[in-house]
Amino acid sequence: MLVIFGASGDLTARKLVPALYSLYVEGQLPEHFVVLGTSRSDMTDADFRNQVVIESDYLKEKLKNSDEAKTKKFAEMFFYQDLGESYDVDYSPLRKRVGQLNDEKRTQGNIMYYLSTPPRLYETIAKNLAEAGLSTQNNGWKRLIVEKPFGYSLETAKALNQGLQEHFKESQIYRIDHYLGKETVQNLLVTRFSNSIFEPLWNRNYIKHIEITNAESVGVEKRGGYYDKSGALRDMFQNHLLQIVSLIVMEPPIGDKAEEIRDEKVKALKSLRVMRDEKILHDHTIRAQYMASNIQGKKVKGYREEEGVDPESTTETYAAIKFYVDNWRWKDIPFYVRTAKRMPTKVTEVVIHFKTPHHQIFKDSGIHNKDNKLIIRIQPDEGILIKFGVKVPGQGFKVERANLDFYYSSLMETHVMEAYERLLLDAMQGDATLYARADEVEAAWEFVDPILDYWQHGKDVRMYGYPSGTWGPKNSDDLIEGEGYWRNPGEN
Ligand code: NAP
Repeated sequence: MLVIFGASGDLTARKLVPALYSLYVEGQLPEHFVVLGTSRSDMTDADFRNQVVIESDYLKEKLKNSDEAKTKKFAEMFFYQDLGESYDVDYSPLRKRVGQLNDEKRTQGNIMYYLSTPPRLYETIAKNLAEAGLSTQNNGWKRLIVEKPFGYSLETAKALNQGLQEHFKESQIYRIDHYLGKETVQNLLVTRFSNSIFEPLWNRNYIKHIEITNAESVGVEKRGGYYDKSGALRDMFQNHLLQIVSLIVMEPPIGDKAEEIRDEKVKALKSLRVMRDEKILHDHTIRAQYMASNIQGKKVKGYREEEGVDPESTTETYAAIKFYVDNWRWKDIPFYVRTAKRMPTKVTEVVIHFKTPHHQIFKDSGIHNKDNKLIIRIQPDEGILIKFGVKVPGQGFKVERANLDFYYSSLMETHVMEAYERLLLDAMQGDATLYARADEVEAAWEFVDPILDYWQHGKDVRMYGYPSGTWGPKNSDDLIEGEGYWRNPGEN
């Protein structure tokens, strides 16, 4: 059974139910499966089914290919129980309903609780579940899936971990980071550790620097109020991008079990050099906000004019960070990571820049200053690209860049699971590999906290502006100056 808290909300309708539908169509849901939605809203089972299945805009496309009987059967898996006026109430009525459904639908007592409410309610819900006897595992497993954001700082993340662990064991807690559900992110592990051609080069001897870009073309849209309290560093960097960093930096795990992989990721995150010196924080971090602009003839607002955003806001919509990793493998190799809204395109990619050959033979080739690159495209057009030099036919040794590429879309016969599909299925099967552990989340905050603190309280902290639809402030080029330039997707 899946019990969703905050089931009347956006995430349930937009992500969770469509993911469940795909699992249903693929025959991946257990035979006796039930979804019990719960929140403060007053709804019947029929209302809930209408809202999240029958009349849902997010299922329309998928339901087009379904016959009526199939849709009806899917909708009938959904039930609803309101909690009353608040989430901090006695959950005995909920326990009773869970018990009834368990008996009627023979769900064997296995329950996954999904927390999809404002984060300040997570601990309250965990406490009330435990007090109602709904966390004990003597009659089937109980798991708690927790949505992002996981804390607002190191201190709040630690408090949340502690709060949840008072009522659920760490092994029952699944902290979701939907980036880990993406095939290409998982493919980072496979690329590195199932091939013998990359790993020997995966170190400071052959790699010059590493770049990660996460660009969104949209602005804050309707989430201005939420975003203004968060910003690019908290919303994207602390979780999704540092998860990617950990997979690039980590040492080979001894196997593919959740704890074996997570142990190495924690070690990787702990080896990031925490920046405490103001001069370094000043030189190695850039923050900026998008400004009003005209994109393809359409006027777009600047960040400070967005609804829900403070007109004097100092929240960043662009963050670029340069940092180092203090371990044997990566000593002195710079990492450049940037994330932003209102960029020219939507893209997430990792670029591994290799050192140029130590002795240049083809001096007139015109290419000697271009490095080999391994580009891992996380979205869209998920795939991997290697850029290398080849000889241009003809006299002399003129060299051109050529690409060796692989795109997931070319594996047409394979259904590429959506992130939430994969993550829900893993949680049902008790596989926590793609979920963040408490110490992992805290290690990421350890690195991010001093940057946030400097941006808030430091001396001479600048906030740049960039016209919407561009690749960010000019000053961010200074950050990467020694290496040349940021690689904007589409460039060679
Ligand atoms: P949402 O629509 O704002 O809220 C979910 C539910 O929480 C609402 O249906 C509401 O249910 C309850 N709620 C909202 N405000 C409340 C309040 N002030 N006090 C008590 N209950 C309140 O949120 P969401 O977009 O579904 O997101 C849920 C969680 O997932 C959040 O933590 C969010 O950060 C995270 N998340 C969302 C997305 C996304 O794409 N939407 C992506 C990543 C993470 P009732 O009023 O009926 O009780």
